[in-house]
Amino acid sequence: MHSHPEAADTLIVGAMLYDGTGAPPVERDVAVRDGRIAAIGNLSNWLAEEVIEANGRALAPGFIDVHTHDDTHVIRSPQMLPKISQGVTTVIVGNCGISASPVTLKGDPPDPMNLLGERDAFRYPTFAAYVDAVNAAQPAVNVGALIGHTALRNNHMDNLKRAATAGEVAGMREQLEEALAHGALGLSTGLAYGSAYDASTEEVATLAEPLAAAGALYTTHMRTEFDAILDAMNEAYHIGRHARVPVIISHLKCAGPSNWGRSTEVLASLEGARKYQPVGCDCYPYSRSSSTLDLKQVTGDIDITITWSTPHPEQAGKLIKDIAAEWGVSQQEAGKRLQPAGAVYHNMSEDDVRRILSHPATMVGSDGLPNDPLPHPRLWGAFPRVLGHYARDAALIPLEEAVRKMTSLSARRFGLAQRGEVHVGWHADLVLFDPATVRDTATFDKPQQVADGIDAVWVNGVLSYRDGTPTGERAGHFVARGARNAAADAEAAAEASAF
Ligand SMILES: [Zn+2]
Repeated sequence: MHSHPEAADTLIVGAMLYDGTGAPPVERDVAVRDGRIAAIGNLSNWLAEEVIEANGRALAPGFIDVHTHDDTHVIRSPQMLPKISQGVTTVIVGNCGISASPVTLKGDPPDPMNLLGERDAFRYPTFAAYVDAVNAAQPAVNVGALIGHTALRNNHMDNLKRAATAGEVAGMREQLEEALAHGALGLSTGLAYGSAYDASTEEVATLAEPLAAAGALYTTHMRTEFDAILDAMNEAYHIGRHARVPVIISHLKCAGPSNWGRSTEVLASLEGARKYQPVGCDCYPYSRSSSTLDLKQVTGDIDITITWSTPHPEQAGKLIKDIAAEWGVSQQEAGKRLQPAGAVYHNMSEDDVRRILSHPATMVGSDGLPNDPLPHPRLWGAFPRVLGHYARDAALIPLEEAVRKMTSLSARRFGLAQRGEVHVGWHADLVLFDPATVRDTATFDKPQQVADGIDAVWVNGVLSYRDGTPTGERAGHFVARGARNAAADAEAAAEASAF
């Protein structure tokens, strides 16, 4: 203990500190200086420009949203209210095979790249141009980025309904390598979508080869989440082994009523693979999914809510079966007339959601769709829903484990250096919340609602959100892939062998 007072920019006094590692909370003061954690402990001899009395509320590392489609949103709406209001301080963009860069369009963006915006939103022919645009926009949150396989395919192929030729894959690889050199975190695929479904396993495996040397990873919205899900998981493992990189299965779920109850089997597959290679997954805490309207999923066995439709915007918010009845046509015909459109699919079982969310390998990712006029509530509610509804009210997992799934697990997996844990010298991305009141308020009917119980959020040491209101400070920036280090790799190996 120093005898003379130390000075900080911000002192957070009397917090229950959840350090991000899953350790139980301990009462601590935390000092922040120059964007970093300056000290942790009993800091009663410290002075600070701003002192925040935590009064025993929870202080945690800022949440990392590993699964977003915020690529263009961080530039167009840099205040990022849907995320900062949840305590999210870093978003990872470029999931599901679709990224805003590197992209050169020949016409309108193919489905589902249209989730990121219309043609004029795609302005970044190189990844370096995208990084510059993110930093120029000064978003309120940090931004890490994956490169989308579908985006690369669309740059190099005249027709997406076939596998790429060797020459086309070579062109895609060159762009992927440019992006990796500028700090991209890895490659994502969206093999379930029509724009990538005809890609062969070999196409993806060959494209993924440069990832290992860069220390990057492979994430996948798998070829199917329905009955053949185990085959799709095996394909993902194969690609990871071929490229010798970690695999993240995106928004892991058992989709479709015939598949409900299979999460035990699916998680057994994941654990089996983890004996031989690093594999993880993310999920969002809801039993309904959302994307563009896919006619293959309009089978009549589940409810589907339309969230937007270009030819029929007046149908947003209605069930497709009601629209079909009103029009006197089949649901399939109604779906055709609504295209292009967005949808919420009532396609999971709650038991499966809970089993997958509570698995130790699962990270939290919102998969929110910020350009949707009636977005799935996960966009505004995913993180507080895990903390409030699932950890506190349903007692599904301890709060410190919920925090770990949003912080250290995510940062270690994706290579976000010195984030995801509260350590002296690390970046001061922090969230102060009330464990007794934290709660998602966004619903399917009213999805654009700020969560309760998120009291203060700091990004890179700057107070960016307080008591339900953004402060106006936007201190985020592009975050490049951190160097892999031997300690993190050894830890990942130990974690894998624990199963
Ligand atoms: Zn996806």
